[in-house]
Amino acid sequence: MKKAKPPGLAGIIGYPLDHSLSPFIHNLGFALKKLPYVFVKIEIPPARLNRTVGALVDLGFIGANVTMPHKEASARLVDALSPEARAVGAVNTLVISGRKIKGYNTDIEGFARSLKAFARDRSFPTAAIFGAGGAAAAVGYALFRRFQTRHFHFICRNWRKAKKNLSEKPFFGKGFWADFVDWEDAERAVRASNLIVNATPVGMEGKKTFPVSPAAFRFGQTACDLIYNPPLTPFMRLAKKGGAKAMGGLEMLLQQAAVSFELWTGEKMPVEKVRQELLDSF
Ligand code: NAP
Repeated sequence: MKKAKPPGLAGIIGYPLDHSLSPFIHNLGFALKKLPYVFVKIEIPPARLNRTVGALVDLGFIGANVTMPHKEASARLVDALSPEARAVGAVNTLVISGRKIKGYNTDIEGFARSLKAFARDRSFPTAAIFGAGGAAAAVGYALFRRFQTRHFHFICRNWRKAKKNLSEKPFFGKGFWADFVDWEDAERAVRASNLIVNATPVGMEGKKTFPVSPAAFRFGQTACDLIYNPPLTPFMRLAKKGGAKAMGGLEMLLQQAAVSFELWTGEKMPVEKVRQELLDSF
């Protein structure tokens, strides 16, 4: 009897990974497309990142997703970067070809696709973004390149750290204006913006609340929370109460996964079917 070839490997590198939905999404995508791959969790602390990324090549992985807290460090470990990953100095996708690893940032395209579908091609001249980490940078870059945003307010609990982190990104400050607003002074920035994004973990279980009242929001504004669990987040509730339209992070999660899937396999992920199964799983 002929032996079946073992499946190829892909995975997600992060710490912790308890709540990651990526294995569900990609394993379903592989099964629906009848592709011979398995997607695994690789939960490792920062001290083991270097060794782990090297081991992926030896173990024959086709690639991996990268999540908190490894996105920025991984950008320094790869052989090549896509232009978008270089611009934001962070990768969420590794593609392995031969013994070479190329880093991509599919959060940018994932966010852009999800906002485009939700807001039907609107542009957003002024945006307020809660947070100044990797996701805030990806969102800022997507807004600048695809939604004509030219004024940014980054709302953060430590503006010195935030300013240092974002100023180091190659794309930052070229062709747009940005200021850094203390967490407690968020209300003014929210009122002044067409689009308000939560790019912090605030609103996930056990995390504190936002420093704004529903009155800071209004009809005509769009609010996006990058958090996808719970599906209706505290930030979305706040924005909706004030009259804004609000979307959660599930569509971004799905769309960034779809871009990674295609980079690894050359095949389109069956997005509608995967979205339905994801929604049914909540
Ligand atoms: P990150 O690089 O660690 O940045 C997190 C940011 O949030 C930092 O600016 C941090 O400030 C701030 N922050 C953390 N806890 C806070 C608190 N209690 N109060 C105020 N600010 C706080 O993480 P990231 O990769 O940008 O991810 C941010 C969020 O986006 C996460 O919830 C992640 O799950 C979500 N995300 C979703 C998707 C999706 O596909 N839907 C994709 C990417 C990320 P400090 O620097 O002061 O700590």
